[in-house]
Amino acid sequence: MQTDVFRGMEEIIRRNLKRRGMAGACPAGELEKAARSLADASTVMIVTGFVIRDAMTGETDGPPGAIALASALEGMGKRTVIVTDEYSRGIVVSGLLSRGAGTPVEAVPAGSTCAFCDGLLERYAPSHVIAVERPGRAKDGRCYSMRGEDLSDIVPDTDVLFKKARARKLTTIAVGDGGNEVGMGKVRSHITGAVSLGEKISAQFAADYLVVAGVSNWGAYALAAALSLLSRRLLLHDTPAEARLLDSIVRAGAVDGCTGESAPTVDGLSLAENLEIHEMLKKTVELALRKGTSRD
Ligand code: CA
Repeated sequence: MQTDVFRGMEEIIRRNLKRRGMAGACPAGELEKAARSLADASTVMIVTGFVIRDAMTGETDGPPGAIALASALEGMGKRTVIVTDEYSRGIVVSGLLSRGAGTPVEAVPAGSTCAFCDGLLERYAPSHVIAVERPGRAKDGRCYSMRGEDLSDIVPDTDVLFKKARARKLTTIAVGDGGNEVGMGKVRSHITGAVSLGEKISAQFAADYLVVAGVSNWGAYALAAALSLLSRRLLLHDTPAEARLLDSIVRAGAVDGCTGESAPTVDGLSLAENLEIHEMLKKTVELALRKGTSRD
């Protein structure tokens, strides 16, 4: 059954969630629902980039997943655009170059983002807006790091984009791992009860579909794997390409969001640990495609 394969992918990306207090915050079946919705998309706007204040640059979690997802969607004939901010623009561009991808990149400016977000929605006319590890506004309208640092003065407000998308009846999807990312409002009651500083940092906006993963990149890889299953061909790039992508974004300034180091690690996990999850997802799809599960 296809559903069993989707559930298997959800299991793979659950690793590391317990450490974050997020083990109970994974609504089952969301990966399949999100992927089925994306299969009918026309243009997909992917919003990513999480600045680390100490380094004033973006982290390694987010852009690789966003790029993997954009390339899977483009492989299905969808149009995509990646939206980020100035801290992560060079990181995203470098990652796309390493993949030889020509996805357009937009950077939301500092200050009021309202008119800029309206312009983006007009210009690209997306059917779907997806967040991959993007700071979300909490109940008090500010946005926070996992450690509770207030980032509102440096992070352009992209919740506006999601609220405007909802007002236009577009589909919203979010991928997150900590509770402070836009879209995680869908499991807010869990976050406030189980995550350290949850009441303060928990994001308010609830995405239509929410993929919770141990690391946000893994959630986006899982979406690319799920789209592969639905399209009956592998759309997730190979694991050495993922290693090259991580290397390229670190050279462009990305740092590990947990250690603050300029290294191809993600959320404090080694390159090998991250590539292992990527490889497991890829093998799961390859096996399902060989067995013909996609034709169920
Ligand atoms: Ca993360």
